[in-house]
Amino acid sequence: MQALARYQGVEGVEVRTPKELATVDAIILPGGESTAIGYGLVDAKLLEPLQKFVKSKPAWGVCAGLILLAQDLDDGAAQPLLGGLDISVKRNAFGRQSKSAFRPMEVSNSAANCGDKAYFIRAPAVTKVRNGVEILAQVAADDEVPELGDNGAVVAVRQNKLMATCFHPEISSDDSWLELFLKDVCQVKEVSKVAAVPDFSV
Ligand code: GLN
Repeated sequence: MQALARYQGVEGVEVRTPKELATVDAIILPGGESTAIGYGLVDAKLLEPLQKFVKSKPAWGVCAGLILLAQDLDDGAAQPLLGGLDISVKRNAFGRQSKSAFRPMEVSNSAANCGDKAYFIRAPAVTKVRNGVEILAQVAADDEVPELGDNGAVVAVRQNKLMATCFHPEISSDDSWLELFLKDVCQVKEVSKVAAVPDFSV
């Protein structure tokens, strides 16, 4: 919401009910704990409306939001998902909370203006990418993903109007991924930055 407030041409509103969902053109599914969020969506009677929403309207899933948009989980575990993105996901592939870190990434041409370093918090990794899913970023080739024992895991993807990132650009106030979502995915033509990000560095 703070990041959206830095832009002219878009208005951010919180969505907690099906009625509120019906008023928005696109949605950002934030990070958190995907199991809890999934059951929360069931309780709020938002699971089905959101499943329908992401079939035709733009959505960006951040971390737990990426898990919700996944077609399935790597371990086959059942939890309420929205689906829509033809990927499989391994939860917590980047280890525990204490392993949270900035990681360098290799960003594809279609995300060329996006930041190539981002903060990963108990983040998932995309383990399978199927038909029509474009890879936007992978972790740097020499950076091992703790729970995968693998390098170069896929961490940002797009399929039509759905975009998802395993990392949290908002933590470092990096608006470049938000701009990609607004301009390329949502096709908002008249969007522009009106406020600077405060500099918290010391
Ligand atoms: N580990 C969380 C999950 O599996 C996601 C963490 C996050 O959103 N930062 O749901």
